[in-house]
Amino acid sequence: MNYKDLIIIGGGPSGLCAAKTALEAGISVLIIERSPHVGGQLIKQTHKFFGSKDQYAKTRGYDIATKLHKDIENLENLEILTDTTVVGLYEDHVVTVLHKDQYLRYQAGSIIVATGASEKFLAFENNDLPGIYGAGATQTLMNVYGVLPGKEVVMVGSGNIGLIVSYQLMQAGVKVKAIVEAAPTIGGYKVHASKMTRLGVPILTSTTVKKAIGTNELEAVEIVSLDKNWKEIENTSRILKIDALCISVGLTPMHQLLSMINAKMMFVSELGGFVPVIHENHQTSIPSVFVCGDAVGIEEASSAMMEGYLTGLYVGKYLNRLHPDYENLVKHYESQLSLLRDGPFGVKTKVGLTKLKEGSSHA
Ligand SMILES: Cc1cc2nc3c(=O)[nH]c(=O)nc-3n(C[C@H](O)[C@H](O)[C@H](O)COP(=O)(O)OP(=O)(O)OC[C@H]3O[C@@H](n4cnc5c(N)ncnc54)[C@H](O)[C@@H]3O)c2cc1C
Repeated sequence: MNYKDLIIIGGGPSGLCAAKTALEAGISVLIIERSPHVGGQLIKQTHKFFGSKDQYAKTRGYDIATKLHKDIENLENLEILTDTTVVGLYEDHVVTVLHKDQYLRYQAGSIIVATGASEKFLAFENNDLPGIYGAGATQTLMNVYGVLPGKEVVMVGSGNIGLIVSYQLMQAGVKVKAIVEAAPTIGGYKVHASKMTRLGVPILTSTTVKKAIGTNELEAVEIVSLDKNWKEIENTSRILKIDALCISVGLTPMHQLLSMINAKMMFVSELGGFVPVIHENHQTSIPSVFVCGDAVGIEEASSAMMEGYLTGLYVGKYLNRLHPDYENLVKHYESQLSLLRDGPFGVKTKVGLTKLKEGSSHA
């Protein structure tokens, strides 16, 4: 069986950043990534990021992915396996993977789970008709594979992902007929919402999808208005003819591998669903297994990167291979992370993390 000091499951921004600080501490690292490229969600993000210079503000997502990969590719003791899916994680630090139809086993001194998140879906009549997609899947189709989901689209959800993907659909020549939002207010940044409004796309708040209409594929959608108790208001039904419906109602951490090893989990709605209970050093209830990024709570790439750098450092300490600049780097990345969470969109995360911390005292 192949042995490494550290296996990182997932080559998104958190996994790549964790690899950097761990490699700098002299640890041998294997990154396992199920996609053909590392970079995670970033490889499909064509927009320029917000934030500060430290988190690559004003840089396009896919350029950040290239930069993070370049930061580590020449470091010693790194191996990256792409097109490889981790299908099993066991308490003796063994991971089993599927790589080009081969079933392989690896063992490590420590594991970082950096598997990111998956899209949430909505329950409504006919929600399995061809033509109904997650917004993130739509972004992958368009920006990675150059395939449009349809010609006329309705987006469900006005958070940043819904707004950004709607804008990218318009840039690609798709007509976005409306963005519908069940809440009474728009969820995402005003700057993204204003762009859509300027392009003439109505953002219909207190509105939801009642049913999808079509025989073999999506042909139209029925939307209805909601009252302040989120109940349908009678006689508000409208039918919009479309050939694609994009659902952007949030993300949920990919915790399955952690559940497989019986890591202690908690449901924290502010963090997106079930998340592993962690100690301050991102260690789960299984001491050799650490977690970072969206897998431990939905935030942004900027915070995923900071958590990644920190987790790589913490694993170094756990394996008795302290990074030469450990104290300074921990202080630096922790302060970056708390600055990121001090903004208005960090309030929910902080509430969630407090709940998780309370859970960790019983882990
Ligand atoms: C449409 C959209 C727009 C966004 N815009 C912004 C923005 O403007 N600014 C910002 O800061 N953030 C933005 N984000 C959020 C950001 O992309 C994520 O928070 C960030 O990518 C999380 O990083 P991560 O490394 O935790 O997970 P991911 O980027 O999701 O990476 C996880 C990786 O793990 C791999 N993986 C999962 N399971 C396995 C397995 N079993 N075996 C092997 N590999 C596996 C996946 O293939 C993936 O590559 C946006 C997200 C989306 C969807």
